[in-house]
Amino acid sequence: MSRAYNFCAGPATLPESVLKQARDEMLDWRGTGMSVMEMSHRSDAFVEIAETAERDFRELAGISDDYAVLFMQGGASSQFSTIPLNLLGSKTSADYVNTGIWSKKAIAEAERYASVNIVASSESSGFTSIPDPSSWQVSADAAYLHYTPNETIGGVEFDFIPDSGSAPLVADMSSTILSRPVDVSKFGLIYAGAQKNIGPSGLVVVVIRKDLLGKARQETPTMMNYQVIADHGSMYNTPATYSWYLAGLVFKWLKAQGGVKAMGEINRRKAEKLYGFIDNHEFYANPIDPRFRSWMNVPFTLQDDALNSAFLEGANARGLLNLAGHRSVGGMRASIYNAMPEAGVDALIQYMAEFAQERG
Ligand SMILES: *Cc1c(COP(=O)(O)O)cnc(C)c1O
Repeated sequence: MSRAYNFCAGPATLPESVLKQARDEMLDWRGTGMSVMEMSHRSDAFVEIAETAERDFRELAGISDDYAVLFMQGGASSQFSTIPLNLLGSKTSADYVNTGIWSKKAIAEAERYASVNIVASSESSGFTSIPDPSSWQVSADAAYLHYTPNETIGGVEFDFIPDSGSAPLVADMSSTILSRPVDVSKFGLIYAGAQKNIGPSGLVVVVIRKDLLGKARQETPTMMNYQVIADHGSMYNTPATYSWYLAGLVFKWLKAQGGVKAMGEINRRKAEKLYGFIDNHEFYANPIDPRFRSWMNVPFTLQDDALNSAFLEGANARGLLNLAGHRSVGGMRASIYNAMPEAGVDALIQYMAEFAQERG
């Protein structure tokens, strides 16, 4: 059996060495006589796994003691409602930037709890760019400003951190977390579903400035109350233990690669190679404003949509998997997260060159 290059947007490819380590430790984690899956979350062994993962994550992302790190469940989407429930406090409105499909989902959910003010939107241009911050209509009384630094489906990514004034800045970093250095101190809250750059799906990591804890509305479900989750070290109930463990292995792997700065350089190189190739071949196109092209998700189209299925068939035959674009966008999309090796990008480019040569 050989491993393919999996360009899926999520759940996404994991580092092979991480999967091998998980396999080797599957039946007996370090002499405990059991799998991590079978351990009590209160056991010394699991508490060590959990604390080590949090420590490594804090070190990698540069998170100070002013922030709590929570390992929650329900994926990034559950945070779309958890955030307004916890952060509105006595306020009734929140600011949102609309840059694509994930922004819109967050907005739709927030509208159930708050009066949502869209400070800027790139919808009229088909979400191919990021609205110029000088045009943003930030409101004076918003409880927070929410944005999506990397739109996974559209393939458009912020190259700056917005200024939210005195309101806390909230970011859905699901598909960009740990892909390049970020100044966490600029944020009130960061959240990320794990299945892109962290580990298995279902887990969602939340980084919240501690002064924002304790403001949840009365009707907030206990399991969605950040203060409760923080007070219990993310173990108010049984956490997603195996996902937490795997996230910890990914963090160790990232540290061994040189950390987030080194990873950012690799990611930049991978993205530049692929966009450079697309731009140099008439057969392929990417519609995104070059300044805001995502380093993680690279959508592209072929000269003729009628060739899409032949392209995908040929790719599958070479072990280049899951290149079909999101159903709402069409075309192709190559997701090249941290765990996608540079050799995978090279193999994709080589295939694209040969396909264009044959069919162009
Ligand atoms: C994948 C993704 C989500 C959804 O994550 P789930 O864990 O499936 O809820 C939300 N936002 C962004 C930016 C994503 O990439």
